[in-house]
Amino acid sequence: MSQFWSQVVHTLTPYVPGEQPKVQDLVKLNTNENPYGPSPKVLEAIRAATADTLRLYPDPNADQLRAVIAGCYAAQGIEPRQVFVGNGSDEVLALAFLALLKHDRPLLFPDVTYSFYPVYCGLYGIHYEQVPLDDAFQIQVGDYDRPKGGIIFPNPNAPTGCWLTLDALRELLESCPGTPVVVDEAYVDFGAESAVALVHDHPNLLVVHTLSKGRSLAGLRLGFAIGHPELIEGLNRVKNSFNSYPVDRLAMAGAMAALEDRAYFDRTRGAVMASREGLVADLRALGFEVLPSAANFVFTRHPRRDGADLAAALRERRILVRHFRLPRIDQFLRISIGTEAQCRTLVEALRELLG
Ligand code: PMP
Repeated sequence: MSQFWSQVVHTLTPYVPGEQPKVQDLVKLNTNENPYGPSPKVLEAIRAATADTLRLYPDPNADQLRAVIAGCYAAQGIEPRQVFVGNGSDEVLALAFLALLKHDRPLLFPDVTYSFYPVYCGLYGIHYEQVPLDDAFQIQVGDYDRPKGGIIFPNPNAPTGCWLTLDALRELLESCPGTPVVVDEAYVDFGAESAVALVHDHPNLLVVHTLSKGRSLAGLRLGFAIGHPELIEGLNRVKNSFNSYPVDRLAMAGAMAALEDRAYFDRTRGAVMASREGLVADLRALGFEVLPSAANFVFTRHPRRDGADLAAALRERRILVRHFRLPRIDQFLRISIGTEAQCRTLVEALRELLG
């Protein structure tokens, strides 16, 4: 019934998320979820919030949650007025594209990066240019020294897992103090340094974070951003023109409990990082090239085996990994870090496949 569509709908190429299979018993390493469940305290808090109060709207400003988030960054001097929250970091990013990244000059992002970025550009009519990663699939900040209306990239980058140091980020921010720079830290909990430390000195920096990965809460949908109060005000203006209550009462309760259980967070992300190091060693022993990763996934290719074929063969063995039919990376597999047992199952399957 496309005759009823708005004009813009005809022009959209929507984002395609990784498969969420309906069948059980798969080794699911395709969407960078945390293999460990959320903290038991999160479940307790959500149960406690499952009450008669659900008849009431949640706090549109999420004051309590923003105070807890600011508290997590007390060492960096972050105040609640520098915090914005949303329904997953995808929503925070969607609002940031409209609030901060739509300008006359092009938005810059890497040629190999989170494939949602060009989708938001299509939705809002944002002119963008892709800046090639170098031959080792690294971001070179000097390459962003060209006319631009904004910059966005994930750190660590997705789907490569490679990361920039704070020194490199500082160099970039100092080179363009008049340009908004959004650093998408969806995967920062697994080994990279957070740019939140740079917010104080750089009013053009917005750092976006999620509870989906490091806090095992992809199903709860909670993301946040930290930046100068004027950037936050821009986000609020767009948010309050779209949905006053993006974060519901249960998500708020669960998110606060997750952020407060630091011990559980450190234990589970430590386990993911340890499994990653083991998996990287095993893959290299099988002849795979593996890019350095500070994320909860690795990006890898085999010099003699086609990426799409390998992904399909793994699927037949009930193991899901992500393969992108995209320029430069169509020989790579992006493999989320699973439990030790899941990683072993994957390595065994690959060993068989490679003969
Ligand atoms: N940024 C990057 C780089 C991602 O890979 C993802 C996960 N697909 C997100 C943001 C969004 O995560 P969420 O909406 O679950 O917070």
